[in-house]
Amino acid sequence: MEKSIEPLKKLKFYIHTFGCQMNENDSERIAGILASRGAQMSHSPEECDFIIINTCAVREKSEEKLYSLLGRLAPLKRRRNITIGVVGCVAQLYCSQLIEKKPFIDFVIGPDNYWQIPKILSDQGKEKIVSTSQSHTWPEIPPHQICRESSISGYVTIMEGCNNFCSYCVVPFTRGREKFRPMDSILKEVKDLACKRYKEIQLLGQNVNTYQDPQTGKGFSALLKEVNRVDGIEWIRFITSHPKNFKPDLAMTMIEAEKICHQLHLPLQSGSSPVLERMNRDYTREEYLEKIAILRDLMPDISLSTDIIVGFPGETEKEFQETLNVLENVRFTNIFSFRYSPRPLTAASFYKDSVPFEVKRKRLIELQALQKKLQLEMNKSFIGRVMKVLCLGKSKKDPEMYSGRNEGLQVVNFESKKDRVGKFTDVLITGCGPYSLKGKAMNK
Ligand code: SAM
Ligand code: SF4
Repeated sequence: MEKSIEPLKKLKFYIHTFGCQMNENDSERIAGILASRGAQMSHSPEECDFIIINTCAVREKSEEKLYSLLGRLAPLKRRRNITIGVVGCVAQLYCSQLIEKKPFIDFVIGPDNYWQIPKILSDQGKEKIVSTSQSHTWPEIPPHQICRESSISGYVTIMEGCNNFCSYCVVPFTRGREKFRPMDSILKEVKDLACKRYKEIQLLGQNVNTYQDPQTGKGFSALLKEVNRVDGIEWIRFITSHPKNFKPDLAMTMIEAEKICHQLHLPLQSGSSPVLERMNRDYTREEYLEKIAILRDLMPDISLSTDIIVGFPGETEKEFQETLNVLENVRFTNIFSFRYSPRPLTAASFYKDSVPFEVKRKRLIELQALQKKLQLEMNKSFIGRVMKVLCLGKSKKDPEMYSGRNEGLQVVNFESKKDRVGKFTDVLITGCGPYSLKGKAMNK
């Protein structure tokens, strides 16, 4: 990391983050790099000296959100000439084209070059910077420097990039090939979180199942077992797993290592084997369902979630119905569902985007309505049960209530006479909606 730079003392920065947990963790790391140089984090773009926008390129909609934010920031730039930087996946994808399109952007930095941001800011005003070279080494940031959003549940990134090239996905082009973080560095960060009394950690990566320690060659199950030994951490989660790489040894580790939550996000994308083949997912509907059956056999209480894309090129009504059928069979606790949108450089962007927008829209509505019905049925069956909940704060909708997550990652809002923030609490479930549970803390 560059050492001979002017410290950024007294300068205020604001970071706006789009996208997934990995982007959120990247923003926490960027904030840490800046704060360690004396800059101060601000929660308002109006009162800061520089703004960093951390972007997501996965769907067209995420890109549109960037341009709409830039539009809202343009008057501020004219008024106060603050420095505006665009970082992350859209930066990596479009490089200098972003500055050509929006000339008031001061710098564009890809995911491998965040360490350069302090130097760019201390040189500000000299010239526009575009830095999107990709690196094969892991960018280390001392764990104590990371400025985390939560003081209860901490993200720990263990790998970055992807070698899979699913035909719809831009990630291999924006994040590059797989790159693994050394296990001892991961464990150092987990221990740092445990010392700070974090209760839960979430290991992050585009495809965590392929993790391999670059120093010893040990795999993801070995890493989980080591993390499980860290005193103080009580719940361990990980995301994302690729169905083709999810092997029985990992399911066994989830049983043996008692702190690993019986919760898994396993993106299906489509319930039709021909669509999966066109998506280059490397598993069939039957193989996916077989893995789910093994998981349910080993962990009957497991909570499963998934990602679904509707309207992939060539998806017929029959193929779409096969996806609905998988939802009915598996009964996911939660799904994230998207209309297919063609992304630059991907293989599918060369296919004809043959499903009309209106059909994609209708399919998404139908899929979400079915899932809503299934979730409501499932949630009703939890009424009367007592579950362990990690309280993450006060409820946003009702400040009289507390809000947390159960082991299955469901939102649980509950009443309590005592302050429960940051604590595990047994909650009696008394009601529910399709997207959350409601209850009362048991007296203790
Ligand atoms: N690595 C994960 C996996 O193997 O599925 C997912 C990463 S991606 C950031 C998150 C989700 O975005 C994907 O699972 C997929 O459902 C969705 N997605 C990716 N590309 C898309 C596209 N072109 N159109 C619509 N949805 C897309
Ligand atoms: Fe994208 Fe597929 Fe890699 Fe997930 S596994 S990041 S969907 S290419």
